[in-house]
Amino acid sequence: MKNIYFTVGPSQIYPGITDEISVAVKKEILSLSHRSEEFHKLFDGVREKLRSVLGIPDTHEIFLINSGTEGMERVIENCVEKTSFHVITGTFGNRFYQSAIELNKDAVKVESAWGSGIELSTIDIPKDTELLAVTHNDTSSGVCLDLKPIYDLKKERGDILIALDTVSSVPSIPIDFSLLDCVFFSVQKGFGLPAGLGVLIVSPQAMEKSFSLQKKGISIGTFHNFPTLKASADKSETPETPNVLDLYLFDKVLGLLLERGMESIRKITQQRAALLYELFDQSDLFEPIVTDPAVRSVTTLVVEVPGGSVDLLEKAEAHGLVIGAGYGKFANTQIRVGNFPAHTQDDFEKLLDFLKTYSGQKK
Ligand SMILES: *Cc1c(COP(=O)(O)O)cnc(C)c1O
Repeated sequence: MKNIYFTVGPSQIYPGITDEISVAVKKEILSLSHRSEEFHKLFDGVREKLRSVLGIPDTHEIFLINSGTEGMERVIENCVEKTSFHVITGTFGNRFYQSAIELNKDAVKVESAWGSGIELSTIDIPKDTELLAVTHNDTSSGVCLDLKPIYDLKKERGDILIALDTVSSVPSIPIDFSLLDCVFFSVQKGFGLPAGLGVLIVSPQAMEKSFSLQKKGISIGTFHNFPTLKASADKSETPETPNVLDLYLFDKVLGLLLERGMESIRKITQQRAALLYELFDQSDLFEPIVTDPAVRSVTTLVVEVPGGSVDLLEKAEAHGLVIGAGYGKFANTQIRVGNFPAHTQDDFEKLLDFLKTYSGQKK
């Protein structure tokens, strides 16, 4: 039986996309030169569609990278001479912080209790902060931060660059790119694609910072520093040989998302999350980690299973449903449920039905 993946990444492949792999093979995409006219068109098409799917202004650059984790390193290298400030609500935010530490920056952090958000307005962000690094939706804890306080901070202190890790929130949650400087994600979560491709969106202010660090003789990395990425992107190319197959599939998914309309996709995401939380809240078998509804993720739901989660995960799999285990040390006591645009209504109903039966809410 074919499984449906409700894992948080990699996750379910977008409907119709596995067939596109054989089309790509027939079209000889696998041997396509990344310096060819056909590649230029493919890259341009992806950027154009991405601007419309996510609402990215023309002022911002769109670069291809290889993963979400790479995004963290590139942002620190290109935007921080000395000090970064990190808002941490889970393991991925901590990874971002560690990247800054490993790059010898003076990284400062504020960390929430597991499953809680952080009130940005109550935090004293040091005057010399060059970059604020935030994880929008931390996939380990299921905490999704409200972006308004971040936008307000940018309006108030425009000199601080703001970086947002949106790996597990795009395209399902709208983002105002005009108030953000570096936004990055990879494609194996919300976009329903195979892993191996990332996107980094950069504001003119962050570009300027990168150029100025370079001028000062500070290392901003090598082939994927912002100036090099821009020089290539201006020619509709990438500095290195990229994952052309994934880019080809990305183009198809973006086209399908545009056909469906992002507004409707986002509404459905909210509705499905509400149904799942309702079920979890009503059952003694489940305790969502995030209790404050204002910071509950709608794309990656993290739930404690007090009696242990192994039995549930096994029974789900016997029904062809692969649900994510808890992160790290929570592997056997929590579950993580991905709620992404790649899940069809039928997929979702199967999941809901299984969980209702499992928790005894349906006989
Ligand atoms: C998965 C994830 C990452 C890491 O992305 P990779 O593409 O695996 O490097 C970073 N941040 C968040 C929030 C994630 O969910």
